[in-house]
Amino acid sequence: MPVGSKLRNRLTIWSFILLIMLLGAGGFFCYHAQQQELLENLDKQLLSIARNFACSYREVDVSSSTDSSFCQDFNRLSVWQSGEQAVELYSLQGKVLCSNKHPFNSLLSFSPAAEANSSAGKSYFENIGDNSEQKIRRLTTPIIENGQIRYHLQLGHPLEETALNLSHYRLKLITAVLITSICLTICQWLLLGLMINPLAKLSRQMDRTGEENMQQKFMFGPFPGSELQQLADSYNGLTERLAQSLQRARQFSTDVTHELRTPLTILRGETELALRGEKDAEELRRILNSNLEEISRMGHLVEDLLLLSKSELGEIPLKMEAINLNDLLEELHFHGSIIAEPKQIKVELQGPEQQVSLLADAHRIRQVFLNLLTNGIKYTPEGGTVTIDWSLKGEAVRIIFKDTGIGIDSEHQQHIFDRFYRIDKTSNCNDGGSGLGLAIAKWLVEAHGGSIMVCSVPGQGSSFAIVLPLTRKTDPATKQQ
Ligand code: ADP
Repeated sequence: MPVGSKLRNRLTIWSFILLIMLLGAGGFFCYHAQQQELLENLDKQLLSIARNFACSYREVDVSSSTDSSFCQDFNRLSVWQSGEQAVELYSLQGKVLCSNKHPFNSLLSFSPAAEANSSAGKSYFENIGDNSEQKIRRLTTPIIENGQIRYHLQLGHPLEETALNLSHYRLKLITAVLITSICLTICQWLLLGLMINPLAKLSRQMDRTGEENMQQKFMFGPFPGSELQQLADSYNGLTERLAQSLQRARQFSTDVTHELRTPLTILRGETELALRGEKDAEELRRILNSNLEEISRMGHLVEDLLLLSKSELGEIPLKMEAINLNDLLEELHFHGSIIAEPKQIKVELQGPEQQVSLLADAHRIRQVFLNLLTNGIKYTPEGGTVTIDWSLKGEAVRIIFKDTGIGIDSEHQQHIFDRFYRIDKTSNCNDGGSGLGLAIAKWLVEAHGGSIMVCSVPGQGSSFAIVLPLTRKTDPATKQQ
């Protein structure tokens, strides 16, 4: 069964059942109301006949009539003489005085409830008979003369016609409920098809999606801007992100291969050179030293790669501890000055006197600072200046590594935190740079809850600013020695 058909069929069946139940309940209510209305109309009719009878009855001089003439008058005055309706007159003692000829003799009787109500001056309605064909609606009402109850009058009307009307009405209702339910269900089935078919299409596209067609966009035609289109957008976004991530992974493995191939080629070349012909000890030492340099370069590269991949898997737990920022920056300033000495670059440290304590992983945060400091020295020409400038910004500390170096073009600035991104690849290779330093720095700063940004003017220098959340400030008096 195609995707979506099951859901469509199930929803259709459920909605059909629900519709039948709801419309059935509505139909039942209408049927009941109709039944009530018919009975009320009949009751009104019976009451009006009884009233007419009572008025006409006064025209007869009952006292002067004999029993039989009285009944003749009664029959003459009886409004219903068709023989189907029953009219009976009872004495106050419950004795039948007169009765028209009707087929319900066996059904009519003077029930205690009817007698009690009529004796109390009230009209009383009741249904008599067991099955609908023989059922009659009976009214018992008193005939009052000069404020005195003289007789009890009973009118009986067969319910056969009412039952027939009701059964017609019921049939119409059932037909209407069924036709409406079927029509609505068909409409719903078609509408569901409009909604579910694109889902099935999406599912098929998902099944077909592979690396080669990941960029293919999915569009929901009939409902632009709807939730279905949102789903398509989410799917398109997901495949786009996946494609980008695959592209990054491919680029990463290409870069790794490239980065490892260069030192390996050098190693191989130099080793072959060493093995070729007679070499004196001095030359062999030079070759071995060069090989050692390449091996250590590869070692650093592998370490950096390991760190990045572990960071992605969340496998680098940061050992957070309170570290004294002032001490750390002073130590960096000292080391930076030594590294910068051959290029006669001045390394300066600027910042408030206040002692600041940071909650951070000392080893990792030092790695970040050192990377920015050495980059500043590396990309600054001889005689330049590298400044470490720090300040407090509310609940955070900002450390800026500023240099008077070559600067970075704006087109490169947005990429320098990407892995293996180097602006001048050839010169960096010679410097031992792999383009991983800033990617690692960014990840580490963000893992500390901070941020890193660059601001640079080509030819004038660059500033790398790190903002880290501050956990604790210490008083100048508590300065650690
Ligand atoms: P690398 O190990 O190659 O220095 P990084 O990730 O640390 O790798 O830096 C990426 C690239 O950003 C560098 O190759 C360099 O081109 C550029 N860069 C980094 N810092 C500076 C700076 N202070 N001045 C100019 N360019 C810089």
